[in-house]
Amino acid sequence: MGTHLSRTVAEGRAFMQVIEGRPMDALSGERIDVVCPSDGRVFASIPASGAADVDRAMRAARAAFDGPWSRMPAFERGRCLTRLGLLVEKNAEELAALESRDTGKPIRQGKADVAAALRYYEFYGGAADKIHGDTIPFLEGYTALTLREPHGVVAGIIPWNYPLQILARVAGAALAMGNTLVVKPAEDASLTTIRIAELALEAGIPAGVFNVVTGYGGTAGAAVSAHPMVDYVTFTGSPATGTAIQQAAAINNRGVTMELGGKSPQIVFADADLDAALPVLVNAIIQNGGQTCSAGSRVLIEKPIYEKLAAALAERFAALTAGPHDADLDLGPLITLAQKQRVEAYVRAAEETGLPVLSRGRIDPGAPQSGFYYAPVLFGEVDPDSALAQEEVFGPVLSLFPFEDEAEAVRLANHTEYGLVAGVWTRDGARQHRVAKRVRAGQVYVNAYGAGGGVELPFGGFKKSGHGREKGFEALFDMSATKTIVFNHG
Ligand code: ADP
Repeated sequence: MGTHLSRTVAEGRAFMQVIEGRPMDALSGERIDVVCPSDGRVFASIPASGAADVDRAMRAARAAFDGPWSRMPAFERGRCLTRLGLLVEKNAEELAALESRDTGKPIRQGKADVAAALRYYEFYGGAADKIHGDTIPFLEGYTALTLREPHGVVAGIIPWNYPLQILARVAGAALAMGNTLVVKPAEDASLTTIRIAELALEAGIPAGVFNVVTGYGGTAGAAVSAHPMVDYVTFTGSPATGTAIQQAAAINNRGVTMELGGKSPQIVFADADLDAALPVLVNAIIQNGGQTCSAGSRVLIEKPIYEKLAAALAERFAALTAGPHDADLDLGPLITLAQKQRVEAYVRAAEETGLPVLSRGRIDPGAPQSGFYYAPVLFGEVDPDSALAQEEVFGPVLSLFPFEDEAEAVRLANHTEYGLVAGVWTRDGARQHRVAKRVRAGQVYVNAYGAGGGVELPFGGFKKSGHGREKGFEALFDMSATKTIVFNHG
């Protein structure tokens, strides 16, 4: 793939919302500048919508739900999604370049995100006609059965870190079950969501089924989550915004799925295969510049190998380089100047309280000064009660924690308010099972770690990481409701 395209894509294009199958500007005519994090320059703009635009999108989604979409045979809906997947594949180069330029992620990550999006549309296209209800043994003279019915209008509020992937997991599951959609992408990364809604029309998904409203969270996002025509809300983002969205949805007593991030541990026992673990430990925090809900941001190390593994990680960190998305280095810039300053503040505060920095990566000397680059940082022996150990930094910052034995490892792993993903590295089979069961996390990997990976694998959190499950077949249950029908036939 040419790096050229990721430098020029979207130039001169007027991005519009997609409402009722038509490109639409905000009613106010206001727009938001789109900035490339690699150089801090404006290269496009998106509509800055408000409540009136959201209302228009909701009415379109409601009408489309009441129209043919929810009555279309499930296999036909599945075909629409499969065709959308094929169009994602056909437009892979453009989509990867657009995602990469919009978010600053290295181009190979943009390509990986396109590949994952294709898998979501393919998976849910195939799943649409394979989910069904039950018949239930009941009283003599009765037959009882269940149907899985769509909620109606689903609102999807999408974050800026993996827009293509997160949109695909939301839209794939919601549309497979016969819902219609109003999607609000993040103000900092909306471009691929707009493109996918355009491709959805090309794939034969009827107008009004897949609507996109763009704008700020506090205006467009708030209007989406509080709208009385919304039947179900799904959100991925920060816990504070999750609370605001749940409060808004509660006014209308609507159901929600919440994926709210993590402080995910990787536990490395002394008998682990360190050669296999090392690159995975590094990648789990470096991928997407650490701006990943399931980033492996804490590494817990059994004491006999602590010094050895810390030294090996320090060596790797020193060799990491951040640079422009099209240079495709270890990591790109962070999404915004504000995000960079937030990460800097965490690191500064940790250093001021005496937490030791073991190693730092570097910023490519050729990277534009105006980009939002932050060199990776490795901290050793972090206080488990410190902010660095407890809070989601959302940057390339890794903390190490020595532990004495299995019991302490499990205690430390569970010693945050989050519970999204965990990794366990050991050759001891019984220990693999014990630890995997005792760690409170929605996904546990043994001798592996999949930050965000696996469209087939149910994903979601315990505790502050949220509730509800996305991905895999399980998401189809969240995106539908059971209806029970009872016949008295005597
Ligand atoms: P960040 O603070 O890192 O931008 P958020 O979790 O706030 O992450 O944002 C994720 C998504 O939630 C974005 O689409 C954003 O516009 C949206 N959002 C932010 N605030 C609100 C809100 N009060 N109501 C609804 N959506 C919101």
